[in-house]
Amino acid sequence: MFKIVLATSNKHKVEEMNSVSVQFGICFVMPDEGFNPIEDGSTFEENSYAKALAAAQCEKSGRNYFMADDSGLCVDFLNGVPGLKSARYAPTAQQRIDKLLNALKDANENERNAKFICSLVLIDKTGSVLNKTTGICKGKIAHNQCGEGGFGYDPIFIVENKNKTMAELSQDEKGKVSHRGRALMDMLMWIKCSNLK
Ligand code: IMP
Repeated sequence: MFKIVLATSNKHKVEEMNSVSVQFGICFVMPDEGFNPIEDGSTFEENSYAKALAAAQCEKSGRNYFMADDSGLCVDFLNGVPGLKSARYAPTAQQRIDKLLNALKDANENERNAKFICSLVLIDKTGSVLNKTTGICKGKIAHNQCGEGGFGYDPIFIVENKNKTMAELSQDEKGKVSHRGRALMDMLMWIKCSNLK
């Protein structure tokens, strides 16, 4: 297996990505101790690069490639909020869901459009960018939460062309339609065609 450090402390993300990448012979692993990125960029891509670089800088195990994802949920009715601040919109996952549902309490069906965006950046240990991909998953914010799978805003995000929230999809189904799944597939194809060793 070709190992790439995934610059995240979120085990769910590593599991989700590995469920797709295994077929490409690629395995994502967590960063070494001391991984502490500062996400103060003004775009998902800038934050993604900052995370990948932070993972490269704390590397002690001799691994050569570092990939980061930065992602978030942008809601039309709220002019793109929570966006870059999706992880910090409120202190806990449940509070973030409650706050978003409350912010949309006066929004009707047509006004609940939203999208998840994911930016992936792959760098080498010197910090040089090897490739970047972006994935988008369109949908709507539900009126109530539903489903147990996934993480974050999944229970309130109804996926376009599916009558289900992201949290009602299996990991495999989510991998095929999600913002991260789409960005990841493009990245994995690129890695497969590249000569990375
Ligand atoms: P980050 O990309 O780790 O900075 O996280 C961004 C935040 O966006 C997460 O903490 C979640 O709140 C939200 N988010 C990103 N991807 C997903 C997803 O696939 N499902 C649900 N929420 C997500």
